[in-house]
Amino acid sequence: MNRALNFNAGPAALPAEVLIEAQKHLLNFNGTGMSVMELSHRSKPYEEVHDGAISKLRTLMNIPDDYEVLFLQGGASTQFSMVPMNLLKEGQTASYILSGAWSEKALKEAKKVGQTSILASSKESNYNSIPEFTLSDLSSDTAYLHITSNNTIFGTQWQSFPDSPVPLIGDMSSDILSKPIQVDQFGLIYAGAQKNLGPSGVTVVIIKKSLLERSTDALPTMLNYKTYADNNSLYNTPPTIAIYLLKLVLDWVENQGGVTAIEKINDQKAKLLYDAIDESEGFYNGHATLNSRSKMNVTFTLQSEEATKVFLQQAKEEGFVGLNGHRSVGGCRASIYNAVPLENVEKLAEFMKKFSQK
Ligand SMILES: *Cc1c(COP(=O)(O)O)cnc(C)c1O
Repeated sequence: MNRALNFNAGPAALPAEVLIEAQKHLLNFNGTGMSVMELSHRSKPYEEVHDGAISKLRTLMNIPDDYEVLFLQGGASTQFSMVPMNLLKEGQTASYILSGAWSEKALKEAKKVGQTSILASSKESNYNSIPEFTLSDLSSDTAYLHITSNNTIFGTQWQSFPDSPVPLIGDMSSDILSKPIQVDQFGLIYAGAQKNLGPSGVTVVIIKKSLLERSTDALPTMLNYKTYADNNSLYNTPPTIAIYLLKLVLDWVENQGGVTAIEKINDQKAKLLYDAIDESEGFYNGHATLNSRSKMNVTFTLQSEEATKVFLQQAKEEGFVGLNGHRSVGGCRASIYNAVPLENVEKLAEFMKKFSQK
């Protein structure tokens, strides 16, 4: 097999085992004589996929019974609107912590719905860290506090989560399932699947049941969390193939030993690249401050644009894909989500060392 050394930020690498499994059943899923894509979403074989994906996610993330797991479409970007539409009432304020471009976009949509405030921001330092904040600064009319757990573009990540007095909303698109988390610290968690969970096309929402009471019937049906909760995310046709692949990715995570085992490998992978940066004596510079470093997206720069160009060119010739940094940071970014194999990261660390020595 000639698989690329894929470090794309999203859509991103999927486990080869998952793709092989999907390929094997592409024409005839479980003896149905049909692909999963051709099954009715109301049929028994599809139902097993759908419910299996929900229950596996519940097990892997240890999701308490008073939370719903929903499958939606429209990406994490649609959640930027749905969160305030469903959870922010007249006379309340939605509070945001700005730690990158995705939080800014989330705030922009909330402003269209109601009153907002910014509890903290690290914009002034080009989002190279998770900002400091004081929970007691939240006003008494705060509807929720929104954070972005991993900043895909800037390569920073929350190392722990606050015990917020108001429902904490987490955009976990780029680090969900990368380490154990305590779901009950959150009122709502959302994630587009295409970084750590599967292909694009499905968005996972984990919501505390009591928060569903905030969604009014005046909302458009498809933008109301209750519609999904009341209908097991089958009010209309769900993205069946994406949910099927999500289920296969969850099976794969389970086979790896679950989220705790995945975290250990992720720690190793991140350490390889950060060591390559730190031991280069300034040849490479990490964008994130030490205590905010992301284990999913490693961002770094070289001393000049010329050096960056040569690095990226040679990396490309060696078969590495997706190492260009986002234009707002420049330099390079290696996305090392769950499905990126350890040996590929070893190869990249090796390449970085050789390149800097040369
Ligand atoms: C990729 C990403 C998004 C956008 O996701 P879409 O599914 O493309 O809308 C939002 N937030 C974070 C943290 C992301 O990494």
